[in-house]
Amino acid sequence: MTSYTLTIGGKPAPTATTFNVLNPADETVVAACPQGTIELIDAAVVAARRAFHTWSAVPDAERVAKLNAVADLIEKNHQELAELITREQGKTQSGPGANLEIGGAAAWTRVTASLKLTDETIQDDKAGKIVSHRKPVGVVGSITPWNWPLLIAVWHVMPAIRVGCTVVIKPSPFTPLSTLRLVELMNQVLPPGVINVVTGGPEVGTHLATHPGIDKIVFTGSIATGKKVMGGAAQTLKRMTLELGGNDAGIVLPGTNIDPLLEKLFWGCFINAGQTCAALKRLYVHEDQYEEVVRKFAEYCAKIPVGNGLDPQNLIGPVSNRMQLDKVTAYVADARAQGARIVLGGEKPAGPGFFYPLTVIADTTDDMRVVKEEQFGPVIPIVKYKTVEEAITRANSLEVGLGGSIWGNDAQEATELASRLECGTAWVNQHGTLHPMAPFGGVKCSGIGVEFNVDGLKEYTTVQVVNVAL
Ligand code: NAD
Repeated sequence: MTSYTLTIGGKPAPTATTFNVLNPADETVVAACPQGTIELIDAAVVAARRAFHTWSAVPDAERVAKLNAVADLIEKNHQELAELITREQGKTQSGPGANLEIGGAAAWTRVTASLKLTDETIQDDKAGKIVSHRKPVGVVGSITPWNWPLLIAVWHVMPAIRVGCTVVIKPSPFTPLSTLRLVELMNQVLPPGVINVVTGGPEVGTHLATHPGIDKIVFTGSIATGKKVMGGAAQTLKRMTLELGGNDAGIVLPGTNIDPLLEKLFWGCFINAGQTCAALKRLYVHEDQYEEVVRKFAEYCAKIPVGNGLDPQNLIGPVSNRMQLDKVTAYVADARAQGARIVLGGEKPAGPGFFYPLTVIADTTDDMRVVKEEQFGPVIPIVKYKTVEEAITRANSLEVGLGGSIWGNDAQEATELASRLECGTAWVNQHGTLHPMAPFGGVKCSGIGVEFNVDGLKEYTTVQVVNVAL
């Protein structure tokens, strides 16, 4: 069994205890993971603060070169990392799964390396010169979830490091191993202390989020935890990026030719077994076409192989952990009890592993928990609507606003309607696709700030204006 280690100040940091990371496909132990502590967070913050003084001062070209070297290392170790993701998180080797996650990690690192922040000259005349500069915010605390653990770690740490910040990252205790390995690789090319990793749960996370030595928190996870993190960070007025939960609606316009859209609709709902923040989680279909869409979508889903992600024939893996499996099971039980129709799936199969079948639920209403809450699993409720206006209102009725989509024959009509969705990204005839140059973030309770491109880079900086009288 491979052993994993925390990294603090460029060195392995020993821990007194470990905890087991389980493979969700068969509940075997993937590895014993070193257990971080609040004292180790303190040590990591000291190391990151020390490194900040030198790293923030190195020439920009050097930071670009180092990030490209990190991308090289991710690519070189692609297979090991992709298999580790499947074993600790569950997503498949085939389809848009673990290989997409590692390929994306390298690609996002390279794109982040290529970005540039430029000074802005506001005044330059006989009276004086005013220039606005971007300076690295300082030491960044990163807290990540378990659904896309390595890719989200990359989204947090690469822009921070690119602009001259240093980082202490705390991965989810469900999926810490890929981050431990990533940080180990990064330390092969980065100076000691630029990136440090400490594992742990809420206690360790709270300590990081409230630590006076942390200048900014970047957090991806649930809304409930995001609110706690924001409260804790208020003590020292930390800068924040919050990427939180969503409950994305998709609206199929009346008369849509659904057959050519089924594949995109499927991945929009079920990429990573539905455990994706910006997955389609409520599908609104016009009453005249409702039965046709329900039937065709369920038939499409029924053909998709679900099983151990290491088997290349499978396209959907297990739910990532028992806690999430229990939540998903409860949502479906509640919908069933409220009179919804389970068209496909809905019963956990016997045997080991946290498997839940692809589940399509019809005759759902907006007051059911499976519609109004984020189910975050391989379950899609399909909801009937009468008019497009009503569907838009219902799509916008929740406190969340991460993504949304409109599906239809006329791309222009769909695009106009998409702009009326209250969300950070509105898609047309697709859902959930991301681009490293397209800013991504949520509105309402789905988050604060954006990631990617120069807008994302700016989130790791503060503005300093230098105003010179001549
Ligand atoms: P979670 O909120 O339970 O945990 C996220 C992280 O916070 C973990 O590392 C956890 O250990 C840590 N944590 C827990 N309690 C803490 C506390 N009190 N203080 C500080 N840290 C604490 O979320 P999860 O279950 O790991 O992830 C699923 C959620 O993340 C879903 O709601 C999903 O929509 C959301 N998500 C959002 C995005 C996005 O970009 N908007 C991306 C991925 C996931």
